[in-house]
Amino acid sequence: MRCPVIHVVGAGLAGLAAAVRLVGAGREIVLHEAAGQAGGRCRSYLDAQLDLVIDNGNHLLLSGNRAARDYLRRIGAETALEGPEHAELAFVDLATKERWRLCPNDGPVPWWIFVPARRVPGTRWRDYLALTRLLLPGADRALAAAVEPEGALWERLWHPFFLAALNTDPAEGSARLAGAILRETLMKGGRACRPLVAREGLSAAFVDPALRYLAAQGATIRLGHRLDGFEIEKDGVAALGFADETVRLGPNDRVVLAVPPWVAASLVPGLEVPQSFRAIVNAHFKLAPPAGTPPLQGVVNGLAEWVFAFEDRLSVTISGADRLLSVPREELAERIWADVAEVTQIAKPLPTWQIIKEKRATFAATPRENARRPGPTTRFSNAVLAGDWTATGLPATIEGAIRSGNRAAALIARPQQGNSR
Ligand SMILES: Cc1cc2nc3c(=O)[nH]c(=O)nc-3n(C[C@H](O)[C@H](O)[C@H](O)COP(=O)(O)OP(=O)(O)OC[C@H]3O[C@@H](n4cnc5c(N)ncnc54)[C@H](O)[C@@H]3O)c2cc1C
Repeated sequence: MRCPVIHVVGAGLAGLAAAVRLVGAGREIVLHEAAGQAGGRCRSYLDAQLDLVIDNGNHLLLSGNRAARDYLRRIGAETALEGPEHAELAFVDLATKERWRLCPNDGPVPWWIFVPARRVPGTRWRDYLALTRLLLPGADRALAAAVEPEGALWERLWHPFFLAALNTDPAEGSARLAGAILRETLMKGGRACRPLVAREGLSAAFVDPALRYLAAQGATIRLGHRLDGFEIEKDGVAALGFADETVRLGPNDRVVLAVPPWVAASLVPGLEVPQSFRAIVNAHFKLAPPAGTPPLQGVVNGLAEWVFAFEDRLSVTISGADRLLSVPREELAERIWADVAEVTQIAKPLPTWQIIKEKRATFAATPRENARRPGPTTRFSNAVLAGDWTATGLPATIEGAIRSGNRAAALIARPQQGNSR
């Protein structure tokens, strides 16, 4: 009798995390990915315009992202993320020209809010306490209904922080998801808030080592292999339909469906999924940053929101960027470069650039969309869901995607889950 096979469909970080966990537990895995490369929304590519390998979007992690760091350890890539030894984040306000560094202390007792040089200029220590309201239990609501969305602290810290974490205008963002972020980062102290970036690129950190690990453990990896549909029998998936073949499932075979929400909804009848999404715009400028440029700078009162300094380029992230989707790319490049030039104090004309607009970068992290996120189980006894859009308790992030993959792997490995059809 052949070994039970687990088919993982989708090789984004959720699918990769599930496959890594399962193969590590000695399970036989076949990974099916529609695209010609793995990584989904978190990958690198050679950009012809820049003649550089860049990421589809700059990704920032925090040292409190424990599942993401554990995943990197498992695939042997724990050194791929770089960041300062202590939490420290540089900010520039383009309206007032002020510059400051936010420096939360390492431990969970937040004495840094009492030290003016460590906190945001123009704020008082007691301003910071208002956010503890997000930690209270209760029905989800918009962030603006939970805390006062104004004042220096809102404008200079909470707005940029939650806009980046939720990829949704913080005023309409889910207070519950914002509270979860707060609980896992600032409430744990600076040790959980060190900003981490994959300096050699997202694929070199999260994707290529995972594929090598899976291949070494005997997993089968099928790129360019799009799942078109299921054949359903009784309460289970009986076969997977691809353009070139139909794969029949044995009684103990299982499926982890780690595809985007609209694909999952087309495969699983009656599945409720988030319906509304938000864009992210990234701008890349081919220019080595001047010595001393902070690796990451938050920008207040600019079009640019975060400026990442890599060895060979300066890259900008703008979240919740739906308003920019119809703006011509040339105009965007000019306007964003004006901000970058001021932030980095580079007096040079627009360098070679690239603009990447990810229209459906993440689901909209509003209370309404958050309530639409399904758990990992499906109506099928032999198939579970993974993805940053499932109900992870976190917004759509690498950490959420990896936790969802781990959870799917744990469920599918349990003997009572998905009993034989
Ligand atoms: C521009 C941008 C910036 C971001 N910045 C950050 C950040 O700073 N920090 C952070 O933590 N997160 C960030 N994120 C979010 C992060 O990238 C995602 O949360 C994470 O990559 C989602 O992984 P996933 O596996 O859930 O989904 P996906 O990456 O979408 O994976 C789904 C996979 O399924 C495949 N697929 C689809 N249909 C089929 C099919 N029919 N058959 C087989 N395969 C199929 C897709 O090709 C894809 O590879 C950002 C995202 C974007 C787009």
